[in-house]
Amino acid sequence: MSSYSPSIEKLIESFEKLPSIGHKTAIRLAFHMLDMNDEEIKEFTDSIQEAKKKLKYCSTCFNISDTDPCPICSSQKRDHSTICVVEDVRDIMAMERTHEYNGVYHVLHGTISPMNGIGPEDIKIKELLNRIKENEIKEVIIATNPRVEGEATSIYIAKLLKAFNIKVTRIAHGIPVGGDLEYTDEITLMKAMEGRHEI
Ligand SMILES: [Zn+2]
Repeated sequence: MSSYSPSIEKLIESFEKLPSIGHKTAIRLAFHMLDMNDEEIKEFTDSIQEAKKKLKYCSTCFNISDTDPCPICSSQKRDHSTICVVEDVRDIMAMERTHEYNGVYHVLHGTISPMNGIGPEDIKIKELLNRIKENEIKEVIIATNPRVEGEATSIYIAKLLKAFNIKVTRIAHGIPVGGDLEYTDEITLMKAMEGRHEI
C-alpha cells in the first residue's frame, strides 16, 4: 500500500506515463519537482505548453519545427537535391549529430506494418513522391531502421522510385539489426551513411 498523499501519488502516476520512466524514477522526479520553487515550476510547465502550441510540422519534410518550412528545408547551405528518408523526427537529430550529412530529409512518420494495420498510405510516401516529382532530386537515401518493417518500407519505396531517374541508396548495416537510429552512436551512423549502397 502506498503511503504517499493522493496529490503526490497523482504526480508520480503522471511521470510513470512517460516513456522509460519506472516507478522509482517517477517517485524521484515527483519529489524533485516538489522541491522546486514556484518560478521554476512555472517555467517548466510554460515550456511544455509553449512547445505544444508553437511546434508544427514542416510541410516539405514533416520534421517538427517552430517554423514552416523548418530550418533545414529553408537553409541555403543544404543540398536540396539529396533527400534522406527517415522514420521518425528523432532520426533527424541522430543524423545531424554526425555532422556528415548536408542534404535534406523526409520524415515518413512510421513504417509499413501490415501486422499493425499500417499501409503505405498511412505514412508520408505519397508526399515523398510528390516532392521528387516537383523538385530536382539526384539522390534518395533510405535510412529507415534495420528492422523487418524498416526493411520492408525501404524495399517498397525503392521500387516506387525506380520510375524516376535518381540514385536510390540504403544506409549500410553498421547499425545493429533490430537497432534504432536514434540510439546509434555518431561514428556507427556516419559509417553507415558512408557505406550506403544503391538499391
Ligand atoms: Zn523541413
